[in-house]
This record gives sequence, C-alpha cells and structure tokens, in this order.
Amino acid sequence: MIGLAPPPAAPAGPEIPLASLAAPLLDTKARYVIMSSSKPYRPEKIFLSHEAESCPGTRLVLERLPDVPVTRIDDPDPLVRPPAPPAETLTAGKKSLLLVRHHGRFFKPCPGRQARQGTTNVCCGYYVINFATNCPLECTYCFLQGYLTNPYVTVFANLDDLLADVQTALRELDNRPLRVGTGELTDSLALDHLIDYARPLVELFARQSHAVLELKTKTDAIDHLLGLDHRGRTVLAWSLNAPEIQQREELKTASLGARLRAARRAVDAGYPVAFHFDPLVWFAGWREAYAGVIEQLFDSVPPSATAWISLGALRVPPGQPEIMRRRFPKSPLPYGEFVTAPDGKLRYFKPLRIELYGAVLSELRRRAPEVKVYLCMERPDVHPHLNGIPAYRDEVLGEWLARDLPVLQPASRQDLPPSGRSQSAG
Ligand code: SF4
Repeated sequence: MIGLAPPPAAPAGPEIPLASLAAPLLDTKARYVIMSSSKPYRPEKIFLSHEAESCPGTRLVLERLPDVPVTRIDDPDPLVRPPAPPAETLTAGKKSLLLVRHHGRFFKPCPGRQARQGTTNVCCGYYVINFATNCPLECTYCFLQGYLTNPYVTVFANLDDLLADVQTALRELDNRPLRVGTGELTDSLALDHLIDYARPLVELFARQSHAVLELKTKTDAIDHLLGLDHRGRTVLAWSLNAPEIQQREELKTASLGARLRAARRAVDAGYPVAFHFDPLVWFAGWREAYAGVIEQLFDSVPPSATAWISLGALRVPPGQPEIMRRRFPKSPLPYGEFVTAPDGKLRYFKPLRIELYGAVLSELRRRAPEVKVYLCMERPDVHPHLNGIPAYRDEVLGEWLARDLPVLQPASRQDLPPSGRSQSAG
C-alpha cells in the first residue's frame, strides 16, 4: 500500500490500570465538547436502576443532563417488557434513557453467523462489545426494531466492568489478529456526548498488538477522539448510502457529506478508516447513485487510509416490514419484493443481490483496487459470482481484514490531497 508503515510498536498485553482509563468519567467536573452536525440525542426522561446508581456511566450522564427528570427504579425487568406491540412502544421508548448495570459478558463473538436449515452465512470473524442496546438514530430499516424487546435506549453504566471484561477477553484471545466493534446493538458514537465510552476504549486498544477496535457510526461526532494517542489501533468507520436513501431512510443521522468530511478529519488525525455500504438498496437510479457516492468517498479519503469496505444488501427479520409500515408510512422499503433466505431473513432475490454487489464492487475496484472488500452476512454461494471478493471462511476472513492496517505516518499525511468536492456535499 502507498505511504504505509507497519503499526507502531505497542507494549504487549492489555495491562492498563482501569482507573486511569475511567478517571475523567469519575471526575464530574470534566467537560467535553462533542461536535455533531445532527442534533445530539437528549432524552426526555431517565430511568435509573437502583444497582446502577454508583456506576461511572450514571454519574457522567446525570452530570451532563442535570435538568432531565430521573425516575429511580428497583428492578428494570417490568419496564423493559413492552405492554404494547413494538411499533408503538419503539418510538416512545427511544425518548427515554435507561441506565442499568449489566451482568455477564460485554465482549462476545458477533452473532452474524447464523445457521438455519443447514446453511451458514460467511462470517468475518468479528467480535462485539455491547455497551448499550437500542439507538437514538432512526433508520427505517434498522433490524433492532424486529430484534429487541426492550424499547428504551439502554446504557450499561458499569463501564469499569466493561473495560475489565474487554481486557480479559483480549488476553484470552492473545496473538490472534481480530476486529472488535461496538456498533452491533446501537450506533458506536450517537450516545458518546453523554457517556464518553469511546475514549477509554480507544486508549485500551492503543496498547494492543493484535486486536483492532472499530467504531462504526452514522454521525460525524468524532472530534473528541482526534487528539487521542490511538496508535492506529482504532478504525473509525461510517455506513454510507446514496443521498436519496440517507435523506429518506436514515432519519436523525449526519448527511453523506458530513460523514465524509468527518472521515477526512479522522484520516488527518492518523486514524485508519472503513466504510460499510450497508444496506445496499434497489431503487430507480441505484447504479449511478452508488457510483456517485464512491466518487465522493475517494475524492475525500485516500484508498491508502481505508482499512476495509463491506457490502451488504437490504435484509430484515421476518415480521419487520409490518413494523416499518406502521412506524414509517412514507418509506417504500417494506413494499419491496423479498424472499425468505435460509438464515430466516427477508432478502432480495439472489440474482438481484449479485447485481447490486457486482456493480458497486466494480466501481470500488476502479477507484481503489487495493482496498479490502468483503460481504457482510452473505451466503457462501454468492461469493464466487463476485470476482475479487475473497472466499475466505470464518476466522480466516477476520484475520485477513485485521492484518496490515493502514497507518499513515505524519510525513505521508502531509502528502494527502486536499479534500475537495466533499466539502460542499451533503
Ligand atoms: S444507526 Fe444503526 S443502530 Fe442506529 S437506527 Fe440506524 S441502523 Fe439502527
């Protein structure tokens, strides 16, 4: 790769005093300015579980939202069982923030590899850290609508336990290149202006020699991370879509232009970046629209700073189209033609998925032939139709993606072209 160097040497092992990572969280006088082009989430109510009262995340949220009413509850369980169908409770639930103490593991293998009827999707060997469930953003297609039963935006406030669990897990998986993300059950950064969890995680991964953290977002609120000593072990990542899909289907998110400008700021701060064309949507003009997004992307961000790009066609759990129709009556997405795939999800017919992937892949190859591209949660029999998509399976794919991360040295960063057209996009 051009202008790249191996990751800087990091002390082996994740032994970091937890108190040093969590210190600013415990200092309620600490102030962070987290800039965002979209309106930052502000709940109307806070529900605080009794056992989360003394947690670091709780203290910070209460300090940052002093005028939001707080209801203290002994047991969150009755609260998180919705009395009404999800379509009604989901919209109301997102207006409340629930702070709980999480018991059990935060660090888990991604459940994306799901076997149904003997068929298994190709797995990218991803691991997840779940610090919250539900998301303050509102994508019409979000799978959480058909997946979660708890309608509230819920934060696991025991950050100290989370950091300890991540350190333990990384030690257990010693010396295997692996990717770990926080964006499975929420957006990685849409709550960070309230909880500030990204910073201690970036600092923890900065000391890893094999694992890399991915923070995946549809916001542009990354400026509080730019000055950190990340050592290239955190990848800042954005989901990208055609402007018409972003504007109509990704409500409360940053525009495409704002995301690309944020990606450029991340590159200028030395972060590797990644992009997820997910979900790819079939609509009139999709081919030209996605080609345009790829043009804008690489006018803003050099391929040499891009760690990976994933492609995933629109897919939803069974039953979700009805929820989407009730919550977002203007969205045409639930009226598309889907088939039930072997993993139980509703998907576009396979030849249509292959056509979507093929067209986007060919544009990516034209602009950035060296960037690693993979399919997210796809069947193995789709891969051979796409020249250049590796047919690796499971952990091999994960290790391939986690290896040889682009780390731009300060000298090569100065050689980056000025970000051009993306400055006025969005
Ligand atoms: S950003 Fe992700 S988690 Fe949040 S609503 Fe959109 S799809 Fe769901």
